[in-house]
Amino acid sequence: EKTIHIIGAGLAGSEAAWQAANSGAHVTLHEMRPVHQTEAHHTDGFAELVCSNSFRSDDAENNAVGLLHEEMRRAGSLVLRAADNNKVPAGGALAVDRDAFSAAVTDAINNHPNIDVEREQIDALPPEEWDNVIIATGPLTAAPLAEAIRSFTGEESLAFFDAIAPIIYKETINFDIAWYQSRYDKVGPDGDGADYINCPMDEDQYAQFLNALLTSEKTEFKDWEKSTPYFEGCLPIEVMAERGPETLRFGPMKPVGLTDPRTGKRPHAVVQLRQDNAIGTLYNMVGFQTKLKYGAQTDVFRLIPGLEKAEFARLGGIHRNTFLNSPKLLDENLRLKKASRLRFAGQITGVEGYLESAAIGLLAGRFAVADTKNEMAALPPPTTALGALLNHITGGHISDSGGKTFQPMNINFGLFPDLEAPRKDADGNRLRGKERGRARKRLITQRALLDLAGWLDSK
Ligand code: FAD
Repeated sequence: EKTIHIIGAGLAGSEAAWQAANSGAHVTLHEMRPVHQTEAHHTDGFAELVCSNSFRSDDAENNAVGLLHEEMRRAGSLVLRAADNNKVPAGGALAVDRDAFSAAVTDAINNHPNIDVEREQIDALPPEEWDNVIIATGPLTAAPLAEAIRSFTGEESLAFFDAIAPIIYKETINFDIAWYQSRYDKVGPDGDGADYINCPMDEDQYAQFLNALLTSEKTEFKDWEKSTPYFEGCLPIEVMAERGPETLRFGPMKPVGLTDPRTGKRPHAVVQLRQDNAIGTLYNMVGFQTKLKYGAQTDVFRLIPGLEKAEFARLGGIHRNTFLNSPKLLDENLRLKKASRLRFAGQITGVEGYLESAAIGLLAGRFAVADTKNEMAALPPPTTALGALLNHITGGHISDSGGKTFQPMNINFGLFPDLEAPRKDADGNRLRGKERGRARKRLITQRALLDLAGWLDSK
């Protein structure tokens, strides 16, 4: 009988092991703790939550995170079961007693007849005889294995830090102010010279914005993160601002090659937004990677003309984080195109968060089982949260340099195929702005759960 080898018993590896073992496959799970620790883990338990104890919103009707919870419950997730059984009060969020949660996952894995656990650090690419492997070693993958993966997949394919610029829902941008134009109307491979969304600033607005950037609260690096190399190419926006009042205006906010259609003139400075996903619902703020605190980011970025009411699919950040350039390297089954015996799961695939990591673990476990039977794995439909997340990391993300700017992502409604917001409710009453937005989200979540049922039945 063929064994599935899983490296790393974190959120993703534990879920993958559970899914595979429950489908009858034999699993060997290799975990380095407590023989070796990471900088963030403190225990030898599986699925240790290294920071917050929350899996975020549990509202499956109106929130993409809550929807992912519900989909995982329906797919028999161990992580969701352990979370539900060890809840602590947290309003509408699913938060847990972290020790009891980790103990529940650890016990379920240790007691599963199809799972063997090896407490050992894997320091090189797995031996050839392991022909079905899931690497789920997380954002703090031990250095020797990370180096082995990097030398096998290529210099540019594995990042050790993320540099995340905020991402905005396009529908919340004010197009009375913002306009589409590429610098010098440059036409890309399939563009029309209007690939970017531009938000203009006059001299006063620029001065105010700079002042807000410089005086807002920043997040400190943790001690072990302090060696974070700031690459000159992706300095945090506030660090650039500190270098002098004109640095941003000669950097990411340079106004050259752009004309504000309302004034017919070049603005004093500009913030450019670039399409972030293939379906065009999300736009990132070009060059705006930042370590400002989350609350400060929303306040400061809403000062930008055109973004007064912007809603953020994700805020910016810079952290130690080991992750692959997945859109380039992985096939739709999460396998390395270059070596299909090696599959990846969890944060190392470029998703962000406990829940998202576990979700990709759930898929990887199921896909690995299909490989043991020489079957084609059924992919979750892109209209489900599971499918939307998978699609984002294995192909749906677009960027101008072949995936080079790929940065980690959490689940959000911007990743789903769009649906038009309904104009009337079930009783025929007209819906207004916010109500229409809420009704649209409910349609997306209903569609997701219906389509999920079809996928789960197809097994
Ligand atoms: P992990 O849960 O880290 O699991 C990886 C496992 O692999 C670990 O058990 C590790 O010991 C093991 N391992 C690593 N290398 C090897 C090797 N060579 N051989 C054998 N075993 C190995 N997300 C949130 O949603 N909320 C938060 O508050 C949050 N805070 C974070 C704080 C920090 C400091 C970091 C680094 C990340 C944080 N994250 C947070 C992001 C992320 O969701 C978590 O790191 C999550 O645990 C990732 O799941 P994973 O399964 O991919 O990796």
